Amino acid sequence: MVVTDTAAGIALDAAAARRFADDHIVPRAERFDREGRVPDEFLRQMSRAGLWAPFLPPEFGGAGLSFTELGRVHAEIGRGCSSVRSLLTVHTMLAWAVNRWGTEDQRARWLAPLARGDLLGAVCITEPEAGSDTAGLAATATRAAGGWRLTGTKKWITGGQRADVFLAYARAGSGLAAFLVPRGTPGVEVEPLADILGTRASMLATVRFRDVEVASEALLGPASFVSGLVLSSMLDIGRYSVAAGSLGIIEACLDASAAYTSARSVGGSMLRDLQLIRAKISDMVTDAAAGRLLVEQAGRLKDDGDPRTVMATWIAKYFTSTAAARHASAAVQIHGANGCGPGYPVARYYRDAKVMEIIEGSTEIQQLTIANTAYWHPSPGSTSVV
Ligand SMILES: Cc1cc2nc3c(=O)[nH]c(=O)nc-3n(C[C@H](O)[C@H](O)[C@H](O)COP(=O)(O)OP(=O)(O)OC[C@H]3O[C@@H](n4cnc5c(N)ncnc54)[C@H](O)[C@@H]3O)c2cc1C
Repeated sequence: MVVTDTAAGIALDAAAARRFADDHIVPRAERFDREGRVPDEFLRQMSRAGLWAPFLPPEFGGAGLSFTELGRVHAEIGRGCSSVRSLLTVHTMLAWAVNRWGTEDQRARWLAPLARGDLLGAVCITEPEAGSDTAGLAATATRAAGGWRLTGTKKWITGGQRADVFLAYARAGSGLAAFLVPRGTPGVEVEPLADILGTRASMLATVRFRDVEVASEALLGPASFVSGLVLSSMLDIGRYSVAAGSLGIIEACLDASAAYTSARSVGGSMLRDLQLIRAKISDMVTDAAAGRLLVEQAGRLKDDGDPRTVMATWIAKYFTSTAAARHASAAVQIHGANGCGPGYPVARYYRDAKVMEIIEGSTEIQQLTIANTAYWHPSPGSTSVV
């Protein structure tokens, strides 16, 4: 589907994202990775391409893109550069949460600048002592005159160095509450994190909230137990984006490996003609095809408002992230020593793919969650959960 009639007048679909990735991301991804940042000029280029929040309704400057098409877009960006896709993922999570859970005033204030990319968003959940176990989060939100006071430290925050607004989760009474906190709010401190294994250009930071006072309007969704829903629904969107991005890594590994094995000969044979090499390539082709079907299924169920999308998204992310790690390793192997050097992108895919197994629900958490479905149905092992 090509969307042309947007408030910003920008046509965006997967084909446009593919062209953008080939023309603008692929040639720059190595430099972004080496320098550990995505420059502002490039972020503005993404704005001009309408990439930041095309799923938002046109009245807020989005393109009303379906989830199915959004997944395809994120797969294309992830094929080009996982750091850029990571920045897009956290921005998407924040913008989606404001659109889904925000009041009319919050949507009017935040969504248009988020759609244009005039404001970039980041999401603050993880703490030095709590990641997978969100019940262990220690940041607190307490009532203060006219609003709330936030205290706590958030670590590993993608885009934290660059974001203009944070969606920060803190314990408020018996539940978790989410707050929109502009970067310049007194008491917000950002400390860059460098030398990350993968997604090295995603501008990670530790973000400290030192008695940060925010107005009541900063609270997104209801305070109390219900706001667990804000967190879980937002994580589902992030997981979907990472599933698509991991699919992009598999496709990038396949492209690089097909090109290399068609150009390199060993002992008088082209690599592409060696059976053990072909086995690796065929596994990449198969998992790329299967991963695409799983991501598309999750997207279609989201578009239909079908709650089974949540499990479909877990399964898609589990499949594509673990397959990406496996195939990025195979791609380095296929490239031999060249795979370990700076002249080929596969070393970056290898480092980035490992990160996909940790973020948005680690592999182990996915295994625990997906296994539950075997016990939900009268016939154990049924795949009808999705
Ligand atoms: C590059 C990068 C970007 C990130 N971006 C963000 C961001 O933007 N915002 C944000 O809030 N966070 C972010 N994170 C943090 C990420 O979400 C957490 O790292 C993730 O949730 C895992 O938490 P943890 O690192 O504390 O690991 P832990 O929870 O300490 O887990 C350690 C290990 O134990 C395993 N484990 C945990 N529980 C169980 C269990 N019950 N059974 C078996 N095994 C278990 C885990 O799978 C993992 O292998 C980012 C992390 C990275 C590396």
